[in-house]
Amino acid sequence: MTDNDSGSSPSQQSRTWPDPSQHSLKKKNSGKRRQSFPPDVKKGHSTKSFLMQFYLVNKHIEKTTKAAEELQLLQAGMGRRTINVTEDADHLWLSRKLEETYAKMIHLKGAWMLYKAVGGSGQRKLCILPPEAEGYTGRYLSAVGRGKSALYIVPVQGNLDMTPLPNCAKEFERIPKVTCHTCSVGMPVQLLAAHVAFCGRDKILDITIERARLFCSR
Ligand SMILES: [Zn+2]
Repeated sequence: MTDNDSGSSPSQQSRTWPDPSQHSLKKKNSGKRRQSFPPDVKKGHSTKSFLMQFYLVNKHIEKTTKAAEELQLLQAGMGRRTINVTEDADHLWLSRKLEETYAKMIHLKGAWMLYKAVGGSGQRKLCILPPEAEGYTGRYLSAVGRGKSALYIVPVQGNLDMTPLPNCAKEFERIPKVTCHTCSVGMPVQLLAAHVAFCGRDKILDITIERARLFCSR
């Protein structure tokens, strides 16, 4: 009886056509999987993968960001992230992976370039990494990114929204939350390091964090 109440039309449909729909769903899913993971992986070939640090900025810049800017980028769902890249990844895979990691990158519609910081300490100059004919591939990143430093993702056209995201935003979902001992505000662990440097000192940044927290509990 309760089955009928809760199920209504969708459950009836699935009862009428149980096998064909499930079958076609499975087929679709396995097809998608095969696309994102190259066949080599399934055959048991050792496909090398490596961790790569990315750093999304909101607009075209020529030098690395200051600490305060980094905090603002993090709050807006940008900044530094680590992604596991396989050597046989192609440009499409990388684009999708980056858009999964940084939801705001969807607004760039593919108009971004990778840059690498060069030079000494402080604010360093950013140097473009020209994409190959195939775009940015896993093999290419592995060759240019071995220095362990982050690759900057820089918009070619337009700017990305810098409004601070609430701490419960999708962008922070996979990041563990911690509480700052000084101000007792909870935040994604990635934000804490940047936040601690400014906690109590910079009123504007405190306000943005406070606002994000209020937004969250609403
Ligand atoms: Zn604090």
